[in-house]
Amino acid sequence: MIATKTVKDYIRTIVDFPHEGIMFRDVTTLFADPRGFRMAIDQMLHPYAGQRIDKVVGLEARGFIIGGAIAHQLGTGFVPIRKKGKLPGTTISQEYTLEYGEAIVEIHDDAITPGETVLVIDDLLATGGTAEAGIKLLERLGATIVGCAFIIDLPELGGREKLTQMGMEVHALCE
Ligand code: 5GP
Repeated sequence: MIATKTVKDYIRTIVDFPHEGIMFRDVTTLFADPRGFRMAIDQMLHPYAGQRIDKVVGLEARGFIIGGAIAHQLGTGFVPIRKKGKLPGTTISQEYTLEYGEAIVEIHDDAITPGETVLVIDDLLATGGTAEAGIKLLERLGATIVGCAFIIDLPELGGREKLTQMGMEVHALCE
């Protein structure tokens, strides 16, 4: 019998990247496989069948790859949330805390029309700091967030709890 591969089977772990002691979950091996990539996109879309989604929002950088494919599949537009200084137009910014120090993410101030429903996409949910900052930007622009979808959730880092407490519906394909 041939065992069917799951999304998790396509993800590899790189030890000591980007620092010693970090186990980096590498999704490039999932993206590189035609069956794996399609399976991940289809499964991420599944919980939102029948829901109104006006735009897909991707968090830099791997959220662009997944979010672009999802937006194409849904027939919606795609909006990037980027690290500070990368977007060319007028932006609004949100600071957030990293393990060491702070970071800032930005969105174009005209990327969302108030009342639009959006789906937030990234590859991995850890502490939830990145997604929280993105959600704050979207809320400031008047978006209604339908959900936040990830390929991987690292539950011990508390991101899902943080986003759930903000009233978000969180989905992930694996832990
Ligand atoms: P958080 O803000 O939830 O602590 O971290 C999540 C962000 O860091 C996401 O944008 C994600 O892409 C990135 N990230 C952190 N650790 C990993 C990892 O092990 N693998 C991947 N692919 N991304 C990670």
